[in-house]
Amino acid sequence: MTHPAQPKASHFINGEYVEDTAGTPIPVIYAATGEQIATVHAATPAIVEQALSTAKAAQKAWARMTGTERGRILRRAADIMRARNHDLSVLETYDTGKPLQETLVADATSGADALEYFGGLAASLTGEHIPLGEDWVYTKREALGLCVGIGAWNYPTQIACWKGAPALACGNSMVFKPSETTPLCALKVAEILIEAGAPAGVFNVVQGMGEVGGALVTDPRVDKVSLTGSVPTGKKVYAAAAEGMKHVTMELGGKSPLIIFDDADIDNAVGGAINGNFYSSGQVCSNGTRVFVQKGIKEKFLARLAERTGNAILGDPMDEATSFGPMVTENQMNIVLGYIEKGKEEGARLICGGKRADMDGYFIEPTVFADVTDDMTIAREEIFGPVMSVLDFDTEEEVVARANDTEFGLSAGVFTKDFTRAHRVIGNLEAGSCFINSYNDAPVEAPFGGVKASGVGRENSKEAIKHFSQVKSVYVRMGDVEAAF
Ligand code: NDP
Repeated sequence: MTHPAQPKASHFINGEYVEDTAGTPIPVIYAATGEQIATVHAATPAIVEQALSTAKAAQKAWARMTGTERGRILRRAADIMRARNHDLSVLETYDTGKPLQETLVADATSGADALEYFGGLAASLTGEHIPLGEDWVYTKREALGLCVGIGAWNYPTQIACWKGAPALACGNSMVFKPSETTPLCALKVAEILIEAGAPAGVFNVVQGMGEVGGALVTDPRVDKVSLTGSVPTGKKVYAAAAEGMKHVTMELGGKSPLIIFDDADIDNAVGGAINGNFYSSGQVCSNGTRVFVQKGIKEKFLARLAERTGNAILGDPMDEATSFGPMVTENQMNIVLGYIEKGKEEGARLICGGKRADMDGYFIEPTVFADVTDDMTIAREEIFGPVMSVLDFDTEEEVVARANDTEFGLSAGVFTKDFTRAHRVIGNLEAGSCFINSYNDAPVEAPFGGVKASGVGRENSKEAIKHFSQVKSVYVRMGDVEAAF
């Protein structure tokens, strides 16, 4: 019998599901059991062509609609997503393995927030009038044209919406390629947009690996590429986009610092460290994986952290009591286990976890290492799994310098009761998305994105509008033209 997660077809183009079984089959594996639950096919060149030409053709008419009309469609899509939150969350759990306890509140709901927020902004995208004596200039905020979105595997619904909603609000069309690991959820976003009234061809989904992404990025009809992925992929995609002078948004990886001063509320700091390392089993780009703890509270912090980490419930992700799911794939599990071994070899002190959980699926126990030093592999490389590194520090000046000593710059957090210090430290940290006495909140109203190798551009908030639109300026002369000859 066909599994309920199996989509009607692999791609969604021009308002309908489309199949081309000549494409390489991509098995969809449920991470909690290792069972194959669906198959999709990578896009063939014919499918890529169909998606791009459809999106190109649909864009102009979409941009000519009023912002109010476009916004209404996006907001209707948000309402449909919310009404179907349970089913969409179950699908997200099948796609990623993340527990339903999380997907019910963080995926379709976050996607719906983006659709609602950008739907609300769509009618407010105006230019300005610049008086120049009798003459004047006016500006228009225009769509970029055809945008490509490429997603990572950790938040397939959210990423499709975080890219699709602002793109569509500005009057662009989009071809979205999900990660081959999690191909299911973006199809539902495309289906819902059509149901909400979006014209066919405005938001399309094609499946495939990096080569399909590459074909999309290099196509001369594409005006913008928005990627969520790793730094190495980001470098390749950025370079390919530069060839065609395309706009880019790059949401890439991180190795973010979370700094806990000895005056911090211990339970809140432990809660922040747990949210910043173990949510989605650590598969979150903005995670605060280098937890710097001031020496005065180190042992107290570690004891409370170990105690609370012991409360994680590993198990069937479809059981709402489960609070900690598997790694997305066997391969990702093996990568993370490799890092855990490195941590042990290089002399970090294992506080808890440290191995594969004794159960079906790709589960790794939530793992905490203490006495981690700046040069250890686990303190330098993005692990993308449930591995927290706790490092000691003495002074503010020292910790800021060490926190910034990384190629990444996505996020940073600080826990302290001293607000002057909190703002000063955040001011000195090289990171795009920061937190004071909290960690990993990502409301659509706040800009999200990194500095240094962690990325270019911002998603969410009004900032995202700037990255999916461009300004045309028009000089209007009221008198005669003066010329030299
Ligand atoms: P990858 O960089 O491996 O892949 C990202 C996407 O790019 C996938 O859809 C992938 O396709 C595609 N791709 C790969 N090569 C190319 C290419 N040459 N041209 C065009 N597209 C290509 O990332 P993961 O999926 O492994 O995701 C994990 C990474 O994403 C982590 O490093 C994490 O930090 C980052 N991330 C960043 C976030 C942020 O907002 N800053 C949020 C979430 C994750 P396929 O996989 O199908 O081959």
